[in-house]
Amino acid sequence: MNKLRLMIAIWAGKLVIILSRLLGNQGSAYPGYLARRIYPDVLRVLSSRVERGTVIITGTNGKTTTSNLLASAIREAGFRLVHNQAGANMLAGITTAFINAADLSGKNSFDYALLETDEANVPLLLDEIKADYLLVTNFFRDQLDRYGELDTMIGLIREAALKHRLELVLNADDPLSKAFQDKALILHFFSFAPTIYDSLRSQESREGRYCLVCGQELIYHRFHYAQLGKYTCPGCGQVNPPAEYLGERLRMEPLVEFEVGSAIIRSQYQGFFNAYNLLAAFAMSKTLGIGEPVIEKAFAAFRPQAGRMEYFEIQGKPCWLVLVKNPTGVNQSLSAVLNGRGSKNLFFALNDNAQDGRDVSWIWDADFELLEPGDNDIVSMVCSGQRSGDIAVRVKYAGLKADKIKIIPDLAKGIKSTLEGKGQLYYILCTYTALFAARKIMVDLQHKSIEKKEKPARAAGS
Ligand SMILES: [Zn+2]
Repeated sequence: MNKLRLMIAIWAGKLVIILSRLLGNQGSAYPGYLARRIYPDVLRVLSSRVERGTVIITGTNGKTTTSNLLASAIREAGFRLVHNQAGANMLAGITTAFINAADLSGKNSFDYALLETDEANVPLLLDEIKADYLLVTNFFRDQLDRYGELDTMIGLIREAALKHRLELVLNADDPLSKAFQDKALILHFFSFAPTIYDSLRSQESREGRYCLVCGQELIYHRFHYAQLGKYTCPGCGQVNPPAEYLGERLRMEPLVEFEVGSAIIRSQYQGFFNAYNLLAAFAMSKTLGIGEPVIEKAFAAFRPQAGRMEYFEIQGKPCWLVLVKNPTGVNQSLSAVLNGRGSKNLFFALNDNAQDGRDVSWIWDADFELLEPGDNDIVSMVCSGQRSGDIAVRVKYAGLKADKIKIIPDLAKGIKSTLEGKGQLYYILCTYTALFAARKIMVDLQHKSIEKKEKPARAAGS
């Protein structure tokens, strides 16, 4: 009877996945939700068929990029993989991933499972599945409603890691990763050596500055960005843990490249936060025993996903599409934007639909002041989306000159106006619900500009 219910749960889930694809939806959480209603143990059973290892990836920022990179290395190594989609990272979404990877008998096995999930979901997930590894990208303060809950959550994850005897891969440059130091845990740390991009003074959001052992404020010798960097505690003398995987000779002009051990990592990514994602994925791949040439090849070929600094060329102009969803994300994106060499036209679409967050006051926690110093080389900034006025007020207060700010609520008109700007580089920043509409506009514009370029050539050839 149980076997039959399991089969029905798998088939029902698969059917809903197929139907939602036909309807053009990604079909992320609902198939898993339905299957769990039919057979509550479906995730427990399917996840027990992972043979080599189950990896959980969590952290505030960078989980999706890190998981995708790690997945590319695992696939390049020739393994069978279960991997949940971005945005489907609660239990139902993870169940969907297993149902999707299962065959109709529900009896096939997998080599690895790679499960991306929010920090708060880690203990719940571990109650249902047996995991072997936990990768934490970083712990930043995320949204306003999570203020102050970070310590509690880290405590819960630590307890769960101890209880389930997980092997951990952690960021040594994040002081909060100290919370995991325990003789009972196997820890692998990754870190960047000093880079030419470091600052001695952080301008970004700074949670986690206090020593977890004695409560003293940490002294930083250098910041890579946000609270990631090299520190000493003046109270108890503790410093960053030694790193097993040390990223060296980092270059970001414009794409991220660095060395780690004898490996040379090349990528299609921009920005320091993506350098961390690459290093985290490298550390985890090595922990799984994947060879360096395989990792190098997989990472060099991997194309960023929509909104994670996706590159477009429109009428010969270099444009990047960037998803921003919280203050830390904005700070990271602005740092990456300002790393670009050349004058810049910016576009920022702020929406306030449920998925963006109804309350847009978070823009006041983001460091738009980064744009101001000497008005550097920002040529113009178009403020767009449902809350275009709010973002315009924010950047004006940040010190951007009023004559550089334009308010154009309509996305298509705003993007066109941005592209008409006189800068050398173009950055389209969007909150979640504006991202896909903006992407479609950019894809169309790119397509049109390619057609234009090709038409005279074809005419000449015929
Ligand atoms: Zn201390």
